[in-house]
Amino acid sequence: ATPTAVMVGTGVGASQGVLIKGGQALERTHKVNCIVFDKTGTLTIGKPVIVNTRLLKSMVLREFYELVAASEVNSEHPLAKAVVEYAKKFRQEEESPVWPEAQDFESITGQGVRAVVRNKEVLVGNKRLMLERNVAISIDAEEILAETEGLAQTGILVAIDKELIGILAISDPLKPGAREVISILKSMKVKSIVVTGDNWGTANSIAKEVGIDTVIAEAKPEHKAEKVKELQAEGNIVAMVGDGINDSPALVAADVGMAIGAGTDIAIEAADIVLMKSNLEDVITAIDLSRTTFFRIR
Ligand code: ADP
Ligand code: MG
Repeated sequence: ATPTAVMVGTGVGASQGVLIKGGQALERTHKVNCIVFDKTGTLTIGKPVIVNTRLLKSMVLREFYELVAASEVNSEHPLAKAVVEYAKKFRQEEESPVWPEAQDFESITGQGVRAVVRNKEVLVGNKRLMLERNVAISIDAEEILAETEGLAQTGILVAIDKELIGILAISDPLKPGAREVISILKSMKVKSIVVTGDNWGTANSIAKEVGIDTVIAEAKPEHKAEKVKELQAEGNIVAMVGDGINDSPALVAADVGMAIGAGTDIAIEAADIVLMKSNLEDVITAIDLSRTTFFRIR
């Protein structure tokens, strides 16, 4: 491609909200044969909501959610925001409820939170958090979790003083058109993979819904980057699409890192291409643009 063609290509991209940081990024994109997608906020809308509360022990819901919200209000995680938002339902008489005071707050990356509220130790998070903190998970709880994950929802466990009290089912639906994008990519001979910090059950269900066969779940940020490097070592030209701080190492490692526009500054910084409109379809726009620039106009 001539420098003019590259300029035209990046210009057309920009006019459609696909910001390509330089000619090399545009060139590498037409060779991509494999795309690693982050789940939360990339394939899914990224605005999780609580759809169900299952209590394993009898407890007044209002009190239960006060303890949970008091712990989660200190966390920046999208799941924590969803929990606090939902907890307000039980305090509707107040415009902005003041949660009980939380002491010794701890945020455990990839697992959840811990705090002491009203002299009780509260743990909110995934199974790994409970296992590491010696909270027993009953067969009943396992069944509820399996059910939740089968519905492509994430189950968040709540333990009070080391006793499992409840499970919150959280739904974060697929973005509209996600399934179609994956199917079009397949027809373009581009393989899709999903990688997420969420659990295997939920990840598998979401992948099935969207039409992706290869799944990596319970991945830490460094695992996401490792997976990208592994695919490269097998001879693939790999793009990574993500939105979170967690995705930055993988965005950097990929041949083409694509940040979904509404993502974090860190992800946008790490990426070669920014999809300003947060549309998954723009992954195809970027590949099309690169193929047009580097195949036809020579
Ligand atoms: P991702 O953003 O890729 O889904 P994370 O590594 O941020 O993954 O989190 C992995 C899992 O850890 C979440 O799916 C959830 O089960 C649990 N988790 C993390 N932070 C919290 C939190 N603040 N509250 C409840 N659960 C959490
Ligand atoms: Mg994400």
